[in-house]
Amino acid sequence: MNLCNQDSIRALLGRHGFHFSKSMGQNFLIDPAVPAAIAAASQADGNCGVLEIGPGAGALTAELAQRAGKVVSVELDGALLPVLAETMAPFPNVEIVPGDVLKLDLEALAAGKLAGLTPIVCANLPYNITTPVLTKLVGSAPFRSVTVLLQKEVARRLAAPQGSPEGGAFSLYLQYYMETSLLFEVPREKFFPSPKVDSAVLRCVRRERPAVETADEAFFFRVLRGAFLLRRKTLVNSLASALPEWEKSRIQEAVAACGLPEGVRGERLALADFARLSALLAEGR
Ligand code: SAM
Repeated sequence: MNLCNQDSIRALLGRHGFHFSKSMGQNFLIDPAVPAAIAAASQADGNCGVLEIGPGAGALTAELAQRAGKVVSVELDGALLPVLAETMAPFPNVEIVPGDVLKLDLEALAAGKLAGLTPIVCANLPYNITTPVLTKLVGSAPFRSVTVLLQKEVARRLAAPQGSPEGGAFSLYLQYYMETSLLFEVPREKFFPSPKVDSAVLRCVRRERPAVETADEAFFFRVLRGAFLLRRKTLVNSLASALPEWEKSRIQEAVAACGLPEGVRGERLALADFARLSALLAEGR
């Protein structure tokens, strides 16, 4: 079955009494070249075990299944389970796991269901859970790479070079653990129903070790988040609000000792600057 043909999808979903849900970010791919390109970009091969989030009717799942050793796809919408039972029947290496990806123990899932394979992630993400799902995948789970289709502006921010105004605290958090790159754009017409925004594929490859060394990682992240708390203010003022136990003069001294201009904004700093700054601030505790 052509899982990207709008008429076939409509007929298939209609037969199963399925209705699209906006709240579950259900926009299915309707150009077969797109899921094929995303699956190729994930670099999945026979040694890989792929975690897919939100298989929908299975357009990307089928492409992944033809490349990977195994595909485990987590689907929240129970109404899609009979649809997937039909569309995934030709692929014995696909396992559908019903549930909410945000509630599952992904480390246990990878250890149990993808044992012996290199675990990676590939998905056309539901827009509404992009940040929590990436946070979950990046911070703790064992996945070597994450290749995801998401809102174009978000993908751009997450791949923005460190110290550029396009980035933010979450971009730097992600880049602390992963190397990120923006691969290609997917216009809204390639989805059914068509969303109001365009999309792009972001690829994240886990670093051997975090991008910078930190003596106190929790404090490093507190400083990083604090720098973006008052985005339109200077770094010093934003940090003074975020770290009320630090004298403002102490923060000014640390910023100067890092060789940063007095009026610099947080968005101009790279991870190495945050590592130095948090180490200097920590010295004065
Ligand atoms: N992979 C399909 C495709 O590319 O055509 C569908 C992608 S659609 C953007 C997102 C899918 O994620 C939907 O199937 C939706 O039901 C599912 N979904 C939404 N929230 C989810 C969650 N928290 N956990 C697992 N799946 C979820």
